[in-house]
Amino acid sequence: APALTIEELTAQRDRARQDYLALSARGLKLDLTRGKPSPSQLDLSDGLLEAAGPAVAADGTDVRNYGGLQGLPELRAIFSEALQVPVERLLAAGNSSLELMHDAVVFAMLGVLPGAQRRWVEEPEVAFLCPVPGYDRHFAVCERLGVKMIPVPMTGDGPDMDVVERLAGQDPRVKGIWCVPKYSNPDGAVYADETVRRLAAMTTAAPDFRIFWDNAYAVHHLTDEPAEIADLLALCAEHGHPDRAFVFGSTSKITFAGGGVAFFGSSEANIRWWLSHTSKRSIGPDKVNQLRHVRLLRDAEGLREHMRRHAALLRPKFDAVDRILTAELGGTGLASWTRPAGGYFVSLEVPEGCAREVVAKAGEAGIVLTPAGATHPYGDDPADRLIRIAPSYPALPEVEAAISGLATCVRLVATEKLLATRS
Ligand code: PMP
Repeated sequence: APALTIEELTAQRDRARQDYLALSARGLKLDLTRGKPSPSQLDLSDGLLEAAGPAVAADGTDVRNYGGLQGLPELRAIFSEALQVPVERLLAAGNSSLELMHDAVVFAMLGVLPGAQRRWVEEPEVAFLCPVPGYDRHFAVCERLGVKMIPVPMTGDGPDMDVVERLAGQDPRVKGIWCVPKYSNPDGAVYADETVRRLAAMTTAAPDFRIFWDNAYAVHHLTDEPAEIADLLALCAEHGHPDRAFVFGSTSKITFAGGGVAFFGSSEANIRWWLSHTSKRSIGPDKVNQLRHVRLLRDAEGLREHMRRHAALLRPKFDAVDRILTAELGGTGLASWTRPAGGYFVSLEVPEGCAREVVAKAGEAGIVLTPAGATHPYGDDPADRLIRIAPSYPALPEVEAAISGLATCVRLVATEKLLATRS
């Protein structure tokens, strides 16, 4: 767009000031911070609350008792296709995949990974590559466990692989990379096949390098054309790095966010290593909940059908975000945003140095957003440009009011900023 004159900008700023006053006067109380399923989405899985039935698994196991560290085979079978992990190497665990990612780093710290020379605590330093923007809780695991974070820029095809190959190839301190390969949090990117191939094939300076493949949104499509990604585990094996990938997933945004089932998949050697640690930690997972999930979802087709119902509830909210941002910010040059084909988030990019201020202004007007910077390691977005929008939880009219209010804040902060730099 051609640059606006000072007069045009001033007029826009004045209108934004008026709109902001009106917005503040509405006394809104809206929350777009976290990607939580809405109550109607949770209702889709209320069958779990009743679906107990006989407490006997397919192989005759009494699920009420101890044991079965690997999780129920029939549940693992349902998720094998979606997570691209053969059933034998896919484990069903507790209710949180984040917990499994956390444990994976702890186990690597305290026990020798297949291919490792020593435990990570014995290394002078351990670093992870962090594609940015990314998921704040991944970064929090690193901070908590003393893993240094090295940001890597995201592209529409996944992380910039030239940078990843250089850093992982040269620096033996680099032990891992966080990846959300499908409908990534927060920018909705889907990794291109070539990105996945290069991740599997690249040379790494660390012999015990691991890809933390957090496929949290594997089946969370918003359109009728589900995205497909390449099979990382198979490609790693094909390129001679069978132990490189740790695959994670969960039903947190499929059934109940607080009462679902999480999965871990990897190579045979890694699964043996994993079980050697988890067997000290637990006598087995909650198989009763796993069996309830089998009865609710039935099979891979049942899972797809269930996810179509989620999409029907989520799509109008994502459509509203795009519609309102387009109406209020389209063609102004003040913002750009993603139109994700799945997942839980929209990324909004505002002019440099404006994100924190926009989030603060929105907060003062009663619209709570994820803190600016949360999408970057150490909470620091150096350009201060990125805002993560999570439209899943509030009802549609609330999403509409919140996004319209957010757009007002963007217009206000960005025009003030542009005028300040011009004068
Ligand atoms: N990974 C990603 C990328 C997520 O966005 C989320 C939820 N916001 C999680 C993991 C959390 O997963 P879980 O509930 O299984 O711990």
